[in-house]
Amino acid sequence: MGRVLIKNVDWLITVDAGRTIYRHGAVGIADDRLEFVGKAEDLPPDYQADEVIDGSGHIALPGFIDTHVHNTQHLGRGLGDGCDMPVLLLERLYAYESVMTAEDAYWAARLCQLELIRSGTTCFLDPSSYYPDETARATGDSGMRGFVSRTAFDIQNTKIGKLPRRPLFRESTEEALDRAEETVVTYKNAHGGRVRAWLSIRIPVGCSDALCKGIRRLADKHKVGIVTHCCESHDQSVGSRRTSGLTDIERMEALDVLGPDMVMIQMGWANPNEIALAQKRGFKISYTPTTGYRIALGDATFGHFPEFAALGVTVALGGNAAMSSNHLDLVRVMGLGAGMMRSTRISPFIFPPEQMIEMATINGAVAVGMQDEIGSLEVGKKADLVLFDTRTSEWCPVHNPLSNLVHSSRGGANYVFVDGRLLMREGEITAFSEEETIREGQMRGLAIAERSGLDRIHRPHWSVR
Ligand SMILES: [Zn+2]
Repeated sequence: MGRVLIKNVDWLITVDAGRTIYRHGAVGIADDRLEFVGKAEDLPPDYQADEVIDGSGHIALPGFIDTHVHNTQHLGRGLGDGCDMPVLLLERLYAYESVMTAEDAYWAARLCQLELIRSGTTCFLDPSSYYPDETARATGDSGMRGFVSRTAFDIQNTKIGKLPRRPLFRESTEEALDRAEETVVTYKNAHGGRVRAWLSIRIPVGCSDALCKGIRRLADKHKVGIVTHCCESHDQSVGSRRTSGLTDIERMEALDVLGPDMVMIQMGWANPNEIALAQKRGFKISYTPTTGYRIALGDATFGHFPEFAALGVTVALGGNAAMSSNHLDLVRVMGLGAGMMRSTRISPFIFPPEQMIEMATINGAVAVGMQDEIGSLEVGKKADLVLFDTRTSEWCPVHNPLSNLVHSSRGGANYVFVDGRLLMREGEITAFSEEETIREGQMRGLAIAERSGLDRIHRPHWSVR
C-alpha cells in the first residue's frame, strides 16, 4: 500500500501511555502500520510519502472500538420500539432473525458497517448471530476490523419466554457447540487478521450449563474470547434466578466459566457479589448506555459503571443495534454515557471526556485483547485512526478538543483508516458503494418487516396519507 503522510493535524490525540496530545502533529503510515507519530516539526525532512493528506482543522485519534455491535440486526431499525425487553428479544428480534435470508444478513452487516465507518469506528465485537459467515464477508468487503461469533442456544423454553419455532433456534447442545467451533476455526485469522471469531453465550438464560461449560472449553482450546450479555435487565436477572437459583455472573462463577478473556455486555443489573467477581476474575465490561436510554433497562439508576472503573475493571463502550439502541455512533454514546451516570449521581465530576475517550479506544482494545496492536496511536501499532473536521459551528471554538468531541460535536468522521487503508476520504466512503448499500438495506428491511409481520406493529401512530 505504500506510505501515507497526514500533516498539519491541529490536535493529534494519541491515547498512548502518557496520554500525549501533539499540537500541529503528523502521522506517517507505512503499509498497515504507524511509522511516525509526533509533532510535524520532528518529522525527518527527507520523509517520502506516496500520498499526503492535509490534516489542517482536524483532530486525529485512534479509531473507535465498539464492543457491542449486532451487525445482522441492522435491517430491523426501530422494530424493537415500544416494548419491554422480553418482548423485544423473543417476539421482535428473534422473529426478525428467523425470517431473514443469508443475503439479507450480508446487506444488514454492510449497512451496519457503513454506519460504523461514518461515525469513526474501526473495529467491532459482534455478540453473535446465526450468520457469522455473512458478517465476516461484509467485513472483508468493507475493510473494517471485526470479531464475529455464532449464536449458541440450546434452551428453547427459557424462563423469560419461548424462542421461535424455527430450525435455527432448535439446536442441541452438541450442534450449537460444533457450529460455534466451526466459526472460530474458519475465522482464526481471516483477511490478514482483520476478521477474527470469538465464542458467544448470547444470553445466558437461553444456554444450558453444559453449553456454557462447552463454550469455555472451546475458548481455552482455541485461545479466543467469549462475549455475553450479562445482568442486562431486571427481567433477565429474575429469569436467571428462576433457571438456576443464581444471577448471570454468579451462575457462570459456579460453572467455572469466568475469565479475563470475557466481555460482559450491559451489566447494569450486576449485584454487589457480581461487582466483586468482576474485579476477582478480570472480565471486561461493555457499557452500552444507549440501550438503557432507549428501552428503559434501569441501568442509569442501578448500573455501577463508574464504580467498576474505579475498581480497575476495564470498561469499554458499546453501541448495540439498530433494533435496540437504534444507532451505533460512539460519539453520541460517549456523551450519553457520561451524562447518564453524572445525572443519576448528581455529580459533574464522573466520567470526564478523557475517560470516555479511553473507553472508546484503548479500553476497547484491551477488551478484545488487542491492546498491543490497536487502541492508541504509537509507532509500530496498526494504522487504525480517524480524523474529525473541527471547522464547523458546533466545534467552534476549540479550547479542549476532548470536551468538544464528547459533548459538543455531532460526530461523523471525515477520514477513516483501518490497517493503513483509507475507508473514508473527506466524508466519502471509498471502500464500497454507499448508494448500493442503502438501496439494498431499504428494500430488504421493508421485505423482512413484511415477512415477519412486524410491519403491522411498527408504523407511525399518526395518520399517514
Ligand atoms: Zn446486544
